[in-house]
Amino acid sequence: MKSVEKEAVLELKGIVKRYGKLKAVDGVDLSVLPGEKVVIIGPSGSGKSTLLRSVNMLEQIDEGHILFEGRDVGYVMRKGKRVPDSHRNICRLRSEIGMVFQHFYLFPHMTVLGNVMEGPVTVKGMDKEEARRLACMMLEKVGLSDKKEVFPATLSGGQKQRVAIARALAMQPKMMLFDEPTSALDPELVGEVFDTIRALAKDGMTMIIVTHQMGFAREIADRVIFMEAGVFVDSGRPGDFFGTCQENERISSFLSRCL
Ligand code: ADP
Ligand code: MG
Repeated sequence: MKSVEKEAVLELKGIVKRYGKLKAVDGVDLSVLPGEKVVIIGPSGSGKSTLLRSVNMLEQIDEGHILFEGRDVGYVMRKGKRVPDSHRNICRLRSEIGMVFQHFYLFPHMTVLGNVMEGPVTVKGMDKEEARRLACMMLEKVGLSDKKEVFPATLSGGQKQRVAIARALAMQPKMMLFDEPTSALDPELVGEVFDTIRALAKDGMTMIIVTHQMGFAREIADRVIFMEAGVFVDSGRPGDFFGTCQENERISSFLSRCL
């Protein structure tokens, strides 16, 4: 039998992230298989964002290992101490793992097209014409071909988030992380962002999604994980997870607050 290490796209081993005395992430293990959609749910403050940010090296972890395609990434040993890897290698990791945040973080002074071209040009050194063609393809994917020349301020929240998704995709990542991608949106704009994520899922993209939208979680997930106080408390296939979670009082109380 092949080992899990060989098959997983991403493998987290014993991840710990502290802020002072607080362990925001307290020993998380996770392996994500190619094409798998993992949804993480859990109360506010349970460490979901910290975990996703750690995967992308936006946070420096205190303990544990991150393996991407079997490679130990993000950190190197120097004089017996573990330190973040070179800027170049971290940029490479970030281009392989795309991330989309609750609050979009588009560059306000650049057009939509400029936003989507920026990563390929500055991080990957891609030729501008090629980056433009790629950006146009990605904007078509998210249904925003007609918004290329406008500035983000003129867009709705749902459109901004779709630009953010296009921008991440323009780096041609092997995996995507979504941190509450619809939490900042008016309810009527949530659907268009979910449609975009659904289309990506259909294309076979490997993803970790943090969301409070349980209907979407149930629909898109291959696996649902409940996180609380920095640890993974429970997980399962969505049918099993949502079918049996009332047996766990904390999960059922959380879910009743989400509805
Ligand atoms: P979630 O995304 O599940 O709501 P977070 O990962 O944002 O949770 O936060 C987990 C815990 O870490 C919380 O107690 C939060 O207050 C704390 N925390 C997050 N970021 C920081 C930070 N930069 N400095 C100090 N504490 C932080
Ligand atoms: Mg969060």
